[in-house]
Amino acid sequence: MQLWKFNGGVHVDGHKRISSEQAIVQAKIPKLLILPLLQHLGVPTEPIVSIGERVLAGQVIARCRGENQDSLMSAPIHASTSGTVLAIEAREVPHPSGLTAMCIIIETDGKDEWIARQPLEHYQQLDPNLVRRHIAQAGVVGLGGAGFPTHIKLKPQGINTLIINGAECEPYITCDDRLMQERPLDVITGAEIMRHVLGGAKRGIIAVEDNKPEAYEALQDALEHTAIQGWELIKIPTLYPSGGARQLIRILLGIEIGRSQQSSEFGIVMHNIETARAVYRAVQRGRPLVSRVVTITGDGVERPQNLEVLLGTPMSELLEACGRKADLERVVMGGGMMGFALSSDEMPVIKTTNCLIAHRAASIEPPAPALPCIRCGACELSCPLNLLPQQLYWYARAKDFKKVQEYNIFDCIECGCCAYVCPSNLPLVDYYRYAKAEVREINQENKKAEQAKRRYEFHQLRAEREKQAREARHQQVPVAEVSSEVVAPEVLAEMDESARKKALIQAMLAKKAKPPES
Ligand code: SF4
Ligand code: SF4
Repeated sequence: MQLWKFNGGVHVDGHKRISSEQAIVQAKIPKLLILPLLQHLGVPTEPIVSIGERVLAGQVIARCRGENQDSLMSAPIHASTSGTVLAIEAREVPHPSGLTAMCIIIETDGKDEWIARQPLEHYQQLDPNLVRRHIAQAGVVGLGGAGFPTHIKLKPQGINTLIINGAECEPYITCDDRLMQERPLDVITGAEIMRHVLGGAKRGIIAVEDNKPEAYEALQDALEHTAIQGWELIKIPTLYPSGGARQLIRILLGIEIGRSQQSSEFGIVMHNIETARAVYRAVQRGRPLVSRVVTITGDGVERPQNLEVLLGTPMSELLEACGRKADLERVVMGGGMMGFALSSDEMPVIKTTNCLIAHRAASIEPPAPALPCIRCGACELSCPLNLLPQQLYWYARAKDFKKVQEYNIFDCIECGCCAYVCPSNLPLVDYYRYAKAEVREINQENKKAEQAKRRYEFHQLRAEREKQAREARHQQVPVAEVSSEVVAPEVLAEMDESARKKALIQAMLAKKAKPPES
C-alpha cells in the first residue's frame, strides 16, 4: 500500500526498551482512590454518592450534567473498586498548570465486589445507537492522552474510514505496544464494535509504527485467526509525531486535513489502541472504564513496568511498586516530548494517564543556555503543521498576541519538534504555551466586557421603556395611539432613538393641548 509523508517530524531516541519487554501486570488495589470529577475533555461530572456511602466496583459515582446523558461532551465516573466514600473535596490533579479539582475519595475494602455487569450480547444485531449509548454509559474516553469522549466520535455521520492508531510515537510510552502484543483480539474486537457503531465504515485500518515488530505480528496473527474480517494492518515508518491524528491520516491516506477542518469532514475517524480495548470491555464484558495500562519507566525506578492500574490510584503507590529510587527527583506524566512535570506524585492516575517517567536528580541536566535565534529555519523544516515557529517565537516574545493568532498559534500541537532541532536551545514550546494562555485570557476578558456591555444596554433599554410606559400611563394616552395619530408608524420606525422620543413627547403634548371634541 502506498504511504505518504507529512511535513517535518524528527527522529528521536525512543527509550522504549526500558519497558517494552515488560508484560502487563495488575497493580495492587490501593487503600485510597482519588477520582477527579473531570478526567476527560469537556464538562465535569456531578457526584451522585454521599459521604459514608458504600459503593461497588463499576458503580456510577458521578454523572454527566444535563438531560441527554449519551449526547453530552462528558463521561461518567465509576468506582474502580468497592469501598466507602470518605470525602468529596478539592485535591491536586494531574494538569500542566498544577490545578486542584473536586474529587471523590474512596476508602477501598480490598474485596473488589462488583455491580451486576451487563454486557451486550450479539452487538452486531443491535441498533448502533444503542451500542453507542452503552459505550457512553461505560465512561469510555480517548485513552491516547486526549480524553475526548469516545461516544461523541462514534456518531455515524458519513464516516467511511475508521483508523485505529497504534503508532505510539512518543518516547518512553509502551502501554499500547504491550496491549497489541498481549491482547490483540480485544483490540480488534473493540475496533470492529466501533465500526458497527459507525454504521459499518467501509474501510478499517490499524496502523503500527515499524519499531514495534512484535505488536505487528501479534495483530497479524490474531487477524488471521478470527472471524472478524476486512481490517488492513499497516506498518508505518517510525518518525515523531506520526501518531498525531493529522499526521497519521496524511501518512495512510495522503489527505491533508487543513486548518480549521475536522477529519470527520473527510469521512475519517481515529481512535487509539487502548480506547478500542476499553470499548471491547464495555460492550462484551460489561466492564465500564475503571482501569487502564500505565507505563512506569525512567531511571528513577528499579523495575520499569507496564501496570494495569485502577483509576484513582495515587501515583506514589505505582512508583513504590516499581522500586522507587531514593534520589527520584521528577515525575513526568505523558511521553518524553509532550509530557509535563508533576508537582507531586500523590496525584491520582486518571483516564488520560498513559505513562509516568521517573527521573533521578543526577540524570536531570540543567537546560542548555538559550542563545539568540540565528534564523537558520530548522524549526520551520521540522514543524509537522507547516507553521512558522520562528515567527511565533518572535511575536510571543514581543507579546504581540494579535500576530501570534495571525500565524495560527492555535494550530500548534506543542509536539516540540521545533525546540528539539533548535541549535540555539530556545524553549520555543514554553513561549507558545505562554502566548496561548495570554490570548485565552484576553479573549475571556473581552467576552466578559462584551457581556457586561450588553447587560448595561439591556438595562438602559428596559429603563427607557418603563419610563415611556409610565409617562404614557400618566397622560392616560396610549403611546401607540399618540404616535400613530401624529406621526405615521413607518416614519417613526425610520427615526433614531432620540428623534423618536422627541416625536412621542410632542405628540403627547399636542394631544393634551387639543380641545375635547364637542
Ligand atoms: S531553529 Fe531556533 S535558531 Fe533556528 S530559526 Fe528556529 S528559533 Fe531560530
Ligand atoms: S511545537 Fe508547534 S510550532 Fe513547534 S513543531 Fe510542533 S506544531 Fe510546529
